[in-house]
Amino acid sequence: MSPTTPPLARRLDGLQSSAIRDLLKLTARSDIISLAGGLPDEQLMPRDRIALAAESALTDRSRLQYTESAGWGPLREVLAARESARLGRAVHVEEVLVTHGSQQALSLLGEVLLDPGALVVVENPAYVGALQVFRAAGARIAAVPLDADGMRTDVLAELLDRGERPALVHTVSNFHNPRGVTMSPDRRRALAELAERHGFWVIEDDPYGELWFDQPSPSPVASYSANVIRLSSASKILAPTLRAGWMVAPSAVRRGVELLKQSADLCGSALTQQIVTDLLDDGDWLTAHVDEVRRIYGERAQALVGALRSRLGDRVVSTDASGGMFVWVDFADTTDTVELLPRAIERGVAYVPGSAFAVDGGYRNSMRLCFTTSDAGMLQEAVDRLTHAVGDQATAAAGFARSE
Ligand code: PMP
Repeated sequence: MSPTTPPLARRLDGLQSSAIRDLLKLTARSDIISLAGGLPDEQLMPRDRIALAAESALTDRSRLQYTESAGWGPLREVLAARESARLGRAVHVEEVLVTHGSQQALSLLGEVLLDPGALVVVENPAYVGALQVFRAAGARIAAVPLDADGMRTDVLAELLDRGERPALVHTVSNFHNPRGVTMSPDRRRALAELAERHGFWVIEDDPYGELWFDQPSPSPVASYSANVIRLSSASKILAPTLRAGWMVAPSAVRRGVELLKQSADLCGSALTQQIVTDLLDDGDWLTAHVDEVRRIYGERAQALVGALRSRLGDRVVSTDASGGMFVWVDFADTTDTVELLPRAIERGVAYVPGSAFAVDGGYRNSMRLCFTTSDAGMLQEAVDRLTHAVGDQATAAAGFARSE
């Protein structure tokens, strides 16, 4: 008798591995300049400072122990002080909850805030990690487009006027992944007002806010309303391996998240949480470190945008890259970035096609480029290779047209 394979839960139906993760596996070849991954630069991660902090943390054996589910007390204190400065009000320690990266916060919030069938509004193109969470929670997804000023809150208002009632709206307010844009102060205010008028939660997902190049990012959406749950992370300013994210949220939400976090992992790592506390609390060092990351990413962003403009001219429209890690490129013609990708890889450059971030299809003539892990020379070389690939594609299309 052949064995009967037991089934998996229905919530996995229709879930797919992130296209970006699958792609990253293909582009690990050393001859490819990959602008595909969304990774911060390892060379800029403060390894020596982390090693010092680890050594000091390990002099106390209790750092090998379990810690509180809500996070190690001194880290919550440091985070409360930082968030007070960001939000322009006194944030109390109890309002802050430490999570295993902000991705865990998203995942736990999906469980705390969403019943199956609930409506979630996301930005289009979307942060794929959030889309996966909301899909796994069985939510219905509605997409609101972005423009240069961030989420089109006027389109959200129309959706609400039609009687749609979202349980939550997700926004990456600063230096959007993948779109690169930052929500304007007026739209932040408008989003907060809509949340209060219609009674929905907003998740302000902000891992990139400190990576500004010319001017600090605007006041968070969370500074305008208590309906906004604010997420941030040490991944992009220190190192992802520390897995330190945090949430500032009202007490009912926090209680739910803390309960579910207990069943997810009991608690985070006391060791990495002490390391993060040490680094975030070392004011002069931290300022110098983050300034350096900002300066170098800013130069790389300029190099990439400059190369795109000089090599591809008005064939493309790209974001200005005023912070964060990404430049979004729209081809003005009908260039299909999914079809272009194999040619680009052949030429030795990789990117993520825009369609990987599309909520319901589209963005076939767009791409996301990550500028963090290549220096200016490599970025220029990457754009040269991309330009050749675009040329190859045009030649092949012309040949195809002749042979038809
Ligand atoms: N939100 C956004 C918008 C992101 O881009 C990322 C990482 N790519 C995350 C959340 C998760 O980051 P982490 O879990 O490392 O804090």
